[in-house]
Amino acid sequence: MPYDFLIVGSGLTGATIARILTDSGQKVLVLDRRPHLGGNVHDHHHESGIRIHTYGPHYFRTSSEEIWQFVKRFTSFYPYCAAIKSWVDGSYENWPIAASYIRRAIGEDWKVSFEGVPSNFEEAALKLMPLKVYEKFIKGYNTKQWGVNPSQLAPTLIKRFDVRADDDPRLMPHHKYQGIPSDGYAKMMEKMLEGIPVMLNVDYLKHSSAFKTPKKLIYTGPIDAYFGFDLGRLHYRGQQRIHEYLPEKDWAQPCGQVNNPQMENGPHIRTLEWKHMMPPEYAQQIKGTVLTQEITHSPDDPEQYEYPFPDRTNQELYNRYAQRASLDANLLICGRLGEYRYYDMDQAIGRAMKLAMSILNNQGGQWNA
Ligand SMILES: Cc1cc2nc3c(=O)[nH]c(=O)nc-3n(C[C@H](O)[C@H](O)[C@H](O)COP(=O)(O)OP(=O)(O)OC[C@H]3O[C@@H](n4cnc5c(N)ncnc54)[C@H](O)[C@@H]3O)c2cc1C
Repeated sequence: MPYDFLIVGSGLTGATIARILTDSGQKVLVLDRRPHLGGNVHDHHHESGIRIHTYGPHYFRTSSEEIWQFVKRFTSFYPYCAAIKSWVDGSYENWPIAASYIRRAIGEDWKVSFEGVPSNFEEAALKLMPLKVYEKFIKGYNTKQWGVNPSQLAPTLIKRFDVRADDDPRLMPHHKYQGIPSDGYAKMMEKMLEGIPVMLNVDYLKHSSAFKTPKKLIYTGPIDAYFGFDLGRLHYRGQQRIHEYLPEKDWAQPCGQVNNPQMENGPHIRTLEWKHMMPPEYAQQIKGTVLTQEITHSPDDPEQYEYPFPDRTNQELYNRYAQRASLDANLLICGRLGEYRYYDMDQAIGRAMKLAMSILNNQGGQWNA
């Protein structure tokens, strides 16, 4: 199979780069060690017909016209604007936290519990809310999610949420386009990679000598694995998923995702009910419902890596690997695992678009969206 670019990983990063390079006449080969395309956005069907996002719930959202037009080439979307609840003291409460909840729980004259420049995530959260509210919604959830006390996490993690003065229940109200692919993410990824040679079930790191040296190797797997972990392992959190089909119940919870922040309610961090994430007219015809509990752990197997660990030690280790990668002009390590960074799907696509354009510019090539 003749190719100039070898792309390791068929997730959004690898697939976007593969599509853009192919559209502009370059020859690429994509490899993935999984038995399916699409990396972590893959989905599959339960026997009841309910569609499950294999690696956790994926809500697509973007405000970028360019990214929206790009993904719409491969799928239509049905509107879906995630609205999440937290199960707190026996009630479903809005997540992110509603200011009306704080007034109800603490009183009209509530005050935040930290002032000044936060040096860790706990202080950053207390700068937004009173201690009592932090303990109910944030402390347990993040202790379960990261396996450490939130005071050991970077303050920048606070960017993932806020306190809603207007009680808007939507998770991401500011994004212009929000939805889920009508026929699922797996079909979207098939379409994105249509006509592009792909080899599945191939671990590049185990079989690299079987492939001719490309003009450029674009590797979207874990950066520490690429270098044989020789500077040490980057820490990730992954999630075990426990699925349960309830044949006698058509709906079990008020929305697709219910967070479980209180320690006394079990080790899982959230419960998903997938039917909420399907087109309503289709979901209503399905008998029963599937619930999935997610329990976080620290995996050794890179296949289970999900969230990069938000602390300085890991960031510094990543920087040392990235510095090494930058010395090889024929190597590009990118994507959520390659850059050790949490990218939302639109951010992963946007970043991949930029990288593909810079590869093409260096080739003297062009791409028209
Ligand atoms: C639990 C969870 C929930 C999320 N929910 C959302 C959401 O709601 N909204 C949103 O916008 N984003 C969400 N995301 C982010 C989204 O999953 C990422 O943006 C996206 O997966 C990034 O794609 P990627 O191609 O960089 O990485 P990946 O999808 O991980 O793709 C990397 C691919 O490389 C392959 N690979 C790795 N090493 C090798 C090797 N040695 N040989 C061959 N193949 C290899 C892997 O098998 C994989 O297929 C979520 C992420 C997680 C973890």
